[in-house]
Amino acid sequence: MLRQYPLTKAQTISLFEKYPSPFHLYDEKQIRANARRLKKAFEWMPGFKNYFAVKALPNPFIMKILKEEGMGADCSSLAELVLAAKSGITGENIMFTSNDTPAEEFALARKHGAIINLDDITHIEFLDKAVGVPEMLSFRYNPGRLKEGNVIIGKPEEAKYGLTRDQIIEAYSIARDRGVKRFGLHTMVASNELAEDYHVGTARMLFELVVEISRATGIRIEMIDLGGGYGIPYHPGDKEVDLEMVSRLIKKDYDELIVGNGLAPLEIVMENGRMVTGPFGWLVSRVRHIKNIYRRYAGLDASMANLMRPGMYGSYHHITVLGKEKLPHDHKYDVTGPLCENNDKFAVERMLPELEIGDVIVLHCTGAHGHAMGFNYNGQLRSAELLLRENGEVEQIRRAETLDDYFATLDFEKLEGFKA
Ligand SMILES: *Cc1c(COP(=O)(O)O)cnc(C)c1O
Repeated sequence: MLRQYPLTKAQTISLFEKYPSPFHLYDEKQIRANARRLKKAFEWMPGFKNYFAVKALPNPFIMKILKEEGMGADCSSLAELVLAAKSGITGENIMFTSNDTPAEEFALARKHGAIINLDDITHIEFLDKAVGVPEMLSFRYNPGRLKEGNVIIGKPEEAKYGLTRDQIIEAYSIARDRGVKRFGLHTMVASNELAEDYHVGTARMLFELVVEISRATGIRIEMIDLGGGYGIPYHPGDKEVDLEMVSRLIKKDYDELIVGNGLAPLEIVMENGRMVTGPFGWLVSRVRHIKNIYRRYAGLDASMANLMRPGMYGSYHHITVLGKEKLPHDHKYDVTGPLCENNDKFAVERMLPELEIGDVIVLHCTGAHGHAMGFNYNGQLRSAELLLRENGEVEQIRRAETLDDYFATLDFEKLEGFKA
């Protein structure tokens, strides 16, 4: 079920007095409740932890809340490692799953004591030369043709990530020879996947690989990381992933393959981002213009720079017009932003109630890969992020960008003396 926007139209309009439109709003209460649901669903798993994929919502105020709910941080860049540290997430509560990684990032991950998850067999030597191999090391497995892909992430055999089936066995031996003592195994093969059996299949694939690695090398894998990719209902007709069912079915395979082969306990962790915050964020904006040409257009004060998913992937984001929820949705609009790009559309031929200038438009499910994917093309500024606290107050957790932020990397004084 799609989550309801938690504020009334009047409450929202009073927020515009303090914060410029548009903004993203996140709901602390629902984020916490969902984090607890996730933890409870998988509590039988030895060492279960969700490492929140920071890229989904890289805001340290949110990360601090998630830390309190028992989550770690899944980082893939220098900035994300810094955010984890600022949020008080340290040591093996940080998973460093990156690719095409520079040495300085490995160095910072090592310094923080993060679990390093290598993307390639050649990175063992690269890491060893740069900063030495850690005691604990994990590898990212790419199953190639052995696993179907899905729309966002594509087919595994066409994905740039991870080690092949043949390489991964060899990689553990090389790592052991270089002094690694503890081993993890990771995969990330889906994105926004709602099908329970897909996630069960991913766990089974790793269980089988743990057995094979143990047989081939004698190495005992201590932890598997199932990656992220749990889907969320973007469309009112979508269902949620049945976490309890996934958990029950994974347990069956765990008992058979891991317990049955004497390989228990095996820690099981995940790296979900989208399902942790996605449904609990909304992009709030206003209608700036209505125009009628070959189609009818509603131009918002938000653009693709505030929410790139529809333009980038053709993703559906549900739209609520505050105060007009009950009116007949009998007008067809393309809902656009001001970018000089014709894919700057939040919705194409969407049936909505009749719109007027000033209407408050809420785009749903922007709590993950929303503000985070923002950019400044066409001189667009990124919006503020607001948090609806559990006590009902609204707190700003990131201010909106200003023109000074936008021009901060230019030197206009130097320009004056510059001869063209
Ligand atoms: C993006 C990503 C995730 C999180 O994916 P979600 O779809 O947000 O759950 C986890 N791990 C890695 C390596 C990723 O790149």
